[in-house]
Amino acid sequence: MSGPMSPDDAPLDRSEGGRPGGEATVEVSPSREAEVAGNRVRRALPQRHRRTVGAWCFADHLGPIAADDGGPGGIGPHPHMGLHTVTWLVAGELVHRDSLGSEQAIRPGQLNLMTAGRGVSHAEEPTGRYRGEFHGIQLWVAQPESTRWGAAAFEHHPMLPEVGLGGGVATVLVGEMAGARSPARRDTALVGADLALPGGEAVVPVAPDFEHALVVLEGGVEVGGRVVTPGALAYLGSHREALVLTAGEATRLLLIGGAPFESPITMWWNFVGRSRDEMAEATADWNSGGTRFGETGSSMDRMRAPQPAGPTGSR
Ligand code: MN
Repeated sequence: MSGPMSPDDAPLDRSEGGRPGGEATVEVSPSREAEVAGNRVRRALPQRHRRTVGAWCFADHLGPIAADDGGPGGIGPHPHMGLHTVTWLVAGELVHRDSLGSEQAIRPGQLNLMTAGRGVSHAEEPTGRYRGEFHGIQLWVAQPESTRWGAAAFEHHPMLPEVGLGGGVATVLVGEMAGARSPARRDTALVGADLALPGGEAVVPVAPDFEHALVVLEGGVEVGGRVVTPGALAYLGSHREALVLTAGEATRLLLIGGAPFESPITMWWNFVGRSRDEMAEATADWNSGGTRFGETGSSMDRMRAPQPAGPTGSR
């Protein structure tokens, strides 16, 4: 359900991974409105001035879409490389099909995590039987040099560990919080958690050597004197032992964080790498229909990759 990157999100150059914090800060930046398979999404990451938060490099918030709007139409077969896709629903259902042969429905509270490595392809389709509101987020995690040319993989986690936060609950999608460790794969020091807050103050333990950010899915929180609502990325820097969040109402948000990523990244369409030449090669390999990215078995239309801009050899 996440969509291709466009040059509006991040120009095709090797960019600094942001200004990984020497300090705690609160920077609230608006998401960019983008369209994915006919649905409007709020793209919280990347931002021109903030490409990564830890290894998190992409976040598309879709919905809520009311039941009578028909729900998302799905997204046909498309490739990925050099990243993990992390799919998390607040409401609704999707079916994931990939070139590894996986066919997996996902529902709220469950995690789909696909590792692209050198290449994988997948489709995300409506189940055809669900009737109701749809609401979710898909994120990408950049793979480090040590694994990004490795094998593709897919994981589905039907249950994830939870941590009580006063009256609220944190569900640990990736990494660890307060001793609760997600079974999901991670290739770098990383955390991702869904926070369900009933309103009032919540103290969320975090690692001081991680940088962190918040994406509010519904409701709103105050952090460091700033109010954060859906349609924004709140970057919080590092050097914190806890986040103090004050929810003005019942609120769902995603906390993402990690050790500042090892290198600048290049992103083009559905690919993450380190150079424009890698993007051009992946584009050609997908569009030629070769074996690198495999076949999903989806009946939806296969997407075609746009040519990366700029001369060969440029970064
Ligand atoms: Mn995808």
